Amino acid sequence: MSPIFPCKGCGTFIERSAQHYRRMSGQVLCSTCADARRESEARSRLHPLQRLLASLRQRLSGSGR
Ligand SMILES: [Zn+2]
Repeated sequence: MSPIFPCKGCGTFIERSAQHYRRMSGQVLCSTCADARRESEARSRLHPLQRLLASLRQRLSGSGR
């Protein structure tokens, strides 16, 4: 059984391995927060115009994945 940690983003209790906890140096995120953070990081790296294009493309493709 894996230990339970509070998510650093929203505080939801999530089950993660102790190995994962150590690898993330205690900054454990639930999958929702991890996704949101990855997305915002990817977006912040983009040029504003590329960001606009990406959001347009996502809207056109529907699901975005
Ligand atoms: Zn969270």
